[in-house]
Amino acid sequence: MSGYLPVLIVGAGPTGLMMACELARQGVSFRIIDKNPEQTLSSNATWIQTCTIEIFDHIGIVDRFLKIGHPCDGIHLYIDGKSLVTIPLNNIDSIYPFVLMLAQSETERLLIDRLEEFNKRIERSLELIDVKQDNNAVIATIKHADGNTEIITSDWLIACDGANSTVREKCHIFFPGENLTEQFIVADAKIDSYMANNEIHVFFDHGAIFAASPLGPNNYRITANLHLDYPRKIFTEREVIEMAQERAYGAYYVNKASWISSFWIHSKLVKHMRHDSIFLAGDAAHIHSPAGGQGMNTGLQDTYNLAWKLALVIKGKAKPALLNSYQLERYPVVNNIVDQTERLTKMALFDKAFLSKLRKFSSKFLHNEAVLSKKIGTQITQLDIRYKESPAISYDESTSAKSPRQGEHAPDVIIDSSKRLYDYLRNMLHNILLFTGPGPSAKKNELDKLKQLQKLLNQIYSQQIKIYIITNEELKDMDNVILDVNNSIHDRYNIKHPSIYIIRPDGYIAYYSKNFNHTLIEDFLKRYLY
Ligand SMILES: Cc1cc2nc3c(=O)[nH]c(=O)nc-3n(C[C@H](O)[C@H](O)[C@H](O)COP(=O)(O)OP(=O)(O)OC[C@H]3O[C@@H](n4cnc5c(N)ncnc54)[C@H](O)[C@@H]3O)c2cc1C
Repeated sequence: MSGYLPVLIVGAGPTGLMMACELARQGVSFRIIDKNPEQTLSSNATWIQTCTIEIFDHIGIVDRFLKIGHPCDGIHLYIDGKSLVTIPLNNIDSIYPFVLMLAQSETERLLIDRLEEFNKRIERSLELIDVKQDNNAVIATIKHADGNTEIITSDWLIACDGANSTVREKCHIFFPGENLTEQFIVADAKIDSYMANNEIHVFFDHGAIFAASPLGPNNYRITANLHLDYPRKIFTEREVIEMAQERAYGAYYVNKASWISSFWIHSKLVKHMRHDSIFLAGDAAHIHSPAGGQGMNTGLQDTYNLAWKLALVIKGKAKPALLNSYQLERYPVVNNIVDQTERLTKMALFDKAFLSKLRKFSSKFLHNEAVLSKKIGTQITQLDIRYKESPAISYDESTSAKSPRQGEHAPDVIIDSSKRLYDYLRNMLHNILLFTGPGPSAKKNELDKLKQLQKLLNQIYSQQIKIYIITNEELKDMDNVILDVNNSIHDRYNIKHPSIYIIRPDGYIAYYSKNFNHTLIEDFLKRYLY
């Protein structure tokens, strides 16, 4: 039996890697194991949604992704080979107005690089074969490559072991849902095409779907349904070439298909993403149609949500009840994704009226493009995710209609050519933002109140929380002041009067108020912090 351990992460796909990177950043001790001797070499999930790009920015690794990813700022839909409509993604409220196309193997490589910077390594060829819980401990039986077994006892286990999760099976956790009968083909291909390379092109015919997602100049991921009455395993390059020609009406000429695979769509979700000391995340907890490219993103966001909470509990800084918010925040988000993608996929494949519904949607969209493109773009890029009912968020006071709301990811803002709001928030702490209001110069007594509040909160929370004053006025001899030179943060947050925002370590907004009574802030933080 090996020694005691706070956290065991099972599975080093994107979900497990995000958990490991975040726990490493928080300085929490863990082991991460994977049964595979090496990481995924295939492209699998290729869309990195804007919401995930913002998260990568928040944890300080976005440049690595931007350097090698391929931005796409629109989704172009066709019926019978004729252009129908383009849904632009560049009207969204983000400094990254696009989705980033990158092979999953590259995403995993960048996360592994990040992990190694913390001197942490994945232990490969280690397979979890059994798990049980006893007296608040998790006891996992691990098989090594030489056939020997090891018992790992940990306080917590994070099951990131994918769609066929052994943890889920051994804990008898039901995985209800549906298996769709339709088989799909995916291929990575070198392609010659005159089609815009900054858009994802999706072709619909009667019951047939073909999508070409650019991964770089002449590099594409193509996906199509197969219309087969029987399952098939092997596909040839010739079939891929012909399918691309036929379904996209000659718009794509495949020169080489480097990777060809197939998949079926499953729509499944566990009822509870936490079972005492075991948390399920990513494909181990939910699988769904790849429509909209949300699978990997959802897994990354699961563990991003969980890691800071677990770290604070392990360090004795937060109450264990904080961990209940994982289910309460993530389950409704995932449930919605599973529902929506299943509905859309079934409609596109099986609804005989789908093409006329798509035409109707297109004309409605074109009539009101300015409003709808922002709304739909925000949904597609996952920027609409909001934790609506969480004990770790206060909804007591409403924000104004145009302000970011509690439960949403705090938007970044460009302050000037050298500074952005996120530069102040990449610190793994709660951040309290005390806005002075946008006037040319905030009223002196208001400013004094804020300074006093900042001082008091600093005394109470010293190392645990950063408290910033955001003002357009230079405040001499004061720490933690964000100089909002052009009022751009005030504008983006639609702040007209002195106001308070509390941003959690995962960048989500926990609290908003115009009331500067410090006991209200303390009462809120006492809900889950010691
Ligand atoms: C062909 C294909 C195409 C896809 N295309 C898309 C797409 O376009 N868009 C999209 O969003 N998603 C797509 N997906 C899904 C996407 O790849 C997954 O959502 C994503 O990989 C989930 O990440 P994960 O870390 O939760 O699980 P996984 O990536 O499955 O990782 C699980 C890890 O756990 C390890 N493991 C499993 N059991 C054990 C055990 N008992 N002990 C130790 N280790 C274990 C595995 O070796 C694996 O490394 C695709 C998947 C496939 C297969």
